[in-house]
Amino acid sequence: MSKIIFESIESDVRFLNPLKEFAEDVQTLQIRKDPLLGDTSVFNPELKDKAEIFFGSCDQGLIDTLVEDTAKTCFFCGEAVAKSTPRFMPDFSSEGRIKVGEALLFPNLFSLGTYHPVIRLCDAHFLKLSEFTPELISNGFLAAQQFNRIAYEKDPSVAYAAVTANYLFPAGASLVHPHLQMIATPIPYSYQARMINACNKWQKNYGTSYFVDLIEEEEGGPRYIGQTGKWHWLTPFSPLGNNEIIAVHEDFGDLDDLSEKDINNISSGISKVLNYYETLGHLSYNYALYSVRNEQGDGSFRTLLKIITRQNLYPNYRNDDYFLQKLLQSELIITPPEELAEQLKKTF
Ligand SMILES: [Zn+2]
Repeated sequence: MSKIIFESIESDVRFLNPLKEFAEDVQTLQIRKDPLLGDTSVFNPELKDKAEIFFGSCDQGLIDTLVEDTAKTCFFCGEAVAKSTPRFMPDFSSEGRIKVGEALLFPNLFSLGTYHPVIRLCDAHFLKLSEFTPELISNGFLAAQQFNRIAYEKDPSVAYAAVTANYLFPAGASLVHPHLQMIATPIPYSYQARMINACNKWQKNYGTSYFVDLIEEEEGGPRYIGQTGKWHWLTPFSPLGNNEIIAVHEDFGDLDDLSEKDINNISSGISKVLNYYETLGHLSYNYALYSVRNEQGDGSFRTLLKIITRQNLYPNYRNDDYFLQKLLQSELIITPPEELAEQLKKTF
């Protein structure tokens, strides 16, 4: 019997529907639980194919104005990036910043972690999702890995890292210009802490890594998308965000252990996912790659990427995080993970 249980319940909701002259209507909801953390998500089949109601459509005119206006004062553009972005203390990095291709990593002006660098990804002020090439994403991750290596060397307490992306205002970005951020700290932040604790318990109970068991369980199934090198791409049974895709490294839990090939392979996967999101009409996204320092862990964690779409950009757009996500920490499923995987599989 499988160790991983994909648990869900169904609920029939009955009401008198004004759209059907107040005849009795019944909608069958599915409430799913994440097998590792128990986090819930809900799917109402009546909302399937109604993404438009929740996410609207991007307004190209608004995007053009936004890009043009923000480019005038962008300090990630042109010569401003050298003049206006912070530098590291000389005892941390004699170069002041880390450069890989067009990617440039430097300290955040207002840190939200023990270490919190920002990585300007490219020279271009704005990119369509299909313009995020594997090379460009790779340069960003390679800069993050170099930074993490210095942080490990200088500070033995640093153990937990997340390399993250917010693209455009609906995703929480304060700048249009494509960039990543990275948090490296002595304690894991809430969500990562919950995953690590659950993985530790799993390892104690079964003697195996949850994520390795997950790959084994999902491979070839309806939520499995494909492989790029040692990364396995799938849709989570109970997602944390809209159109969520995850990638799990089959061997390593520490960003430091990833080879350049591993980084190129995850970047090529992210590029494929972003391309796919563009075909769905999305533009705004978040992702996070989580890492645990080897010395700190019990070997049960695996570097893991989670990527989701966010609200579309149009005037007076609604927020896609409401009570359900923010205060009940549950997600609404519009497209079932199994269908999402089926569609994305074609491009992997
Ligand atoms: Zn810019």
